[in-house]
Order: sequence, then structure tokens, then C-alpha cells
Amino acid sequence: MNSIQRVTGTQDFFPEDLAKVDYVTRIFKEVCEVHDYHQYDTPTFEYTRLFKRGIGETTDIVNKEMFTFIPRQDGGEEESITLKPEGTASIVRLYNQYSLNNKKPPLKLFYHIPCFRNERNQKGRFKEFHQFGIEVFGSDSATVDAEVIILAYRFFEKLGIVDKIELEINSVGSFESRKAYNEKLREFLRPNFDNLCETCKDRFEKNPMRIIDCKEHNCQQITKNAPLMIDNLYEDEKKHFEKLKKLLDIANVKYKVNPYIVRGLDYYTKTAFEFISKDIGSQATVCGGGRYDGLVAELGGPDVTGIGFGLGRERLIMMLDELGKMPKFETKYDLYIATLGEDADFKSFEIVNNLRQKGIVCDKDHVGKSLKAQMKYADDKNANYTLMLGDNEIASGKAMLKNMKTSEQQEVNLSTFEEDFIKLVKA
Ligand code: ATP
Ligand code: MG
Repeated sequence: MNSIQRVTGTQDFFPEDLAKVDYVTRIFKEVCEVHDYHQYDTPTFEYTRLFKRGIGETTDIVNKEMFTFIPRQDGGEEESITLKPEGTASIVRLYNQYSLNNKKPPLKLFYHIPCFRNERNQKGRFKEFHQFGIEVFGSDSATVDAEVIILAYRFFEKLGIVDKIELEINSVGSFESRKAYNEKLREFLRPNFDNLCETCKDRFEKNPMRIIDCKEHNCQQITKNAPLMIDNLYEDEKKHFEKLKKLLDIANVKYKVNPYIVRGLDYYTKTAFEFISKDIGSQATVCGGGRYDGLVAELGGPDVTGIGFGLGRERLIMMLDELGKMPKFETKYDLYIATLGEDADFKSFEIVNNLRQKGIVCDKDHVGKSLKAQMKYADDKNANYTLMLGDNEIASGKAMLKNMKTSEQQEVNLSTFEEDFIKLVKA
């Protein structure tokens, strides 16, 4: 009988994978904390209507990517729930539920969450993946837009990959300016409507700006000379975008204006941005974000502005691996005790047990390997020292301690070995 495999599009994590996760998580937290962002967490699932309203009915996520089900209920009404496909909607729900607008603005937070999307499995595209993200509520200043982008930039800088990643920015206007622009765009597209792909035909009425972002060759040909949102911004939106660019210049953050960035989510306003890698294949967007000034109110809260990003952990780690920028993680024993015989088995157990309580990383043989195999094992585990214990050593109270780096050996007293070894290691 075949053994059961994991579901395609999910991942198992080995210690070496988790060491990478720990590494990027630690750096992300450091960068967040220096910018005064604090961590929040929300449940793995929420009511489906939160995402329908918070992400938008015309988005790919809501249309075809959500894991939705109705849980069994003990009495009461059954309501559809969905595994979190992204972080922002839940965080806005939390913001509203606890009236966090009562705190002095801006509220700056970060998160590290699992996300679930029912997508076709590809390199860099999973059904369960993880996002680092940040959000800021309660400021509409372009300095905050700049800060959010800069935080991601500094993260990539700390990881040593900032020159391998491209920052692209755009402004997608406001609900009002976009309404006027959408009309203009429909006008432009109408003569070619029949040649658009089926998805874009559907987008034509609902959200024509998404057509600009279509990956189909035909649609790209049609939209080549289409009017762009960035040329149709209202005066204050234009000013906001100009200020953002100036601030990024001050911070020495390199960017490119890409008027074709639309972003998948319906709720974006003004600033939209992406960080794109050339080194991880076609799933190249590592981080995407933007401003969402209407979202808090849309989800039943006060009229408070917001901005944030989501950053794909798997694509980030893939990039670090690809570029050779992931530090090497290996087990490193301070001490390995090679043993022969029953008495040595007891003595080595005792030493290991005592030294571990003093923070010394050490181990002994547990499977009855030959002495030669034990020495090889110590080498594989990068042991700094190996102590050799057999019946003779136990009887004489003296044993040989081998420095595995220099191959030097020294005789040690077993009666004082633990204190002596601690002194040696801490010296
Ligand atoms: P894409 O265009 O690749 O589908 P997206 O616009 O759907 O990305 P966002 O919703 O902005 O992505 O999510 C932010 C980040 O999360 C992405 O830039 C990416 O790094 C990561 N991400 C999104 N979907 C997946 C997935 N299915 N598997 C792994 N990472 C993902
Ligand atoms: Mg997607």
C-alpha cells in the first residue's frame, strides 16, 4: 500500500527549513521594531463575508481562490467561514472590533501569518504559504507611504538582496478619480471589446482598470496606448505621489514608476507598489502593498485611512537561496562522548545530563555504534571536542579529550571533568 503524501501545494518543514524561517523572521522583527511597529495576530479563519467585502467581489482571491466551508454548529446559525487568504482584512476587522482608533494615531503594526489560497501549484505558488506584513492606520501623510515602502526596502537591505530586487510604484487614484478614469478607459476599449479575453470582458463593467494588468497577449496589445490612471489623478493625489517620490529620494531608495501596477485588491487608493525579483522565475512579486483609505469604513469602522504590504515568505527564502544569501545553519556540538561498554554508557549519560543543564551542547552514542563510527558521527555534527570513554578510562579516572579542529589530545580527570570542560569552553 502506498503511504499517504502531503496535499499538493502544501509544505513540510525540516529543521534546516525552519532555521531559514527563524532567520528571516528575526530580521523582519528587528526592522519592524526599529520603525516602532508591533506584532498582532488574528485567527486562521474569519467569516467569509469579511473577505468578500474587505478584498472585493471582483478580485481573483474572492472569485476563485478561497477555502470556504460551513462548520458544524452546536445549535445556532451556520455561517460560512474562510481560511485567511491574506492579512489585511482580518487586521482591519480587529482594528474595528477593539476600536483601536481610540489609540493615538498612527497605529503601526506587523504580522506573520499562514495564508490559504486554492491556486494551481507552481514554483513560488502554494495553497498554504506565509506572509510577513505591516499596516499603518490613521495617517494620510505621504511620509507614512514612504515609511512603509522604506521598511520593506531596509528588510531586503539587511538580508543583502536589495540590489537584486526592483521597487515599482504607482498611484491608483481615489474612488472618485478612478470612476472618471474608468469611464475614459471603457470608451477607449469599447471598439475592441470583442477581442478582449473572457476575464477582461467581465472586468469591463466591474473593474476595467484590471484589464491594464492582464497577462494575455491580446489584451496587452489592446491596452498598449490606453489612457493611464497616473495621467488622470486629481490634484491632491498627484501632489501626494510627487511627495512620496521626493521622500524616497531623500531616503536613497531606488524605485521605478510603473503605471501598469494595478494590484489585485479592489480597495487600494493612491499609492500602490511592488518589489519584484528577477531571480525566482515567473512568480516574481515578493512584496506588494498600497494605501487603502476606504477599507476601514467599508468594514463598518470609522473613516480612518490605512496602508500596508504583504510579503511572501516562501518567495523571499527562495530568493535568498537562489542568490546564495542564506547563512549556513549547522548543528554544532561543544562535546561528543564516544563510549565503549556499559559503565561508560552510564558515565557519559551522567556527564551529558549535567553539562546540558549548564548550557553545553553535547551528546553521546545512543545506538551502539562502533568507536570509528562514533568519531565520524562527531565530525558530521561539527563537534568541537570528543571525549573517549571505555572501561579502562572509567577504572583509571582519566580519559583523552580530543580537539576536533586541531586533532590535539589532552588527558583529563574524570572527577573534575565537568567544571574543567565548562572553563575550557567559556575561556
Ligand atoms: P501573484 O500576482 O503572484 O498572484 P498576488 O498579487 O496575488 O501575487 P498578494 O495578494 O499581493 O499577491 O500577496 C502578497 C505576496 O504574497 C505576494 O507578493 C507573494 O510574494 C505572496 N503570495 C501570494 N500568493 C502566493 C501563493 N499562492 N504562494 C506563495 N506566495 C504567495
Ligand atoms: Mg495571486
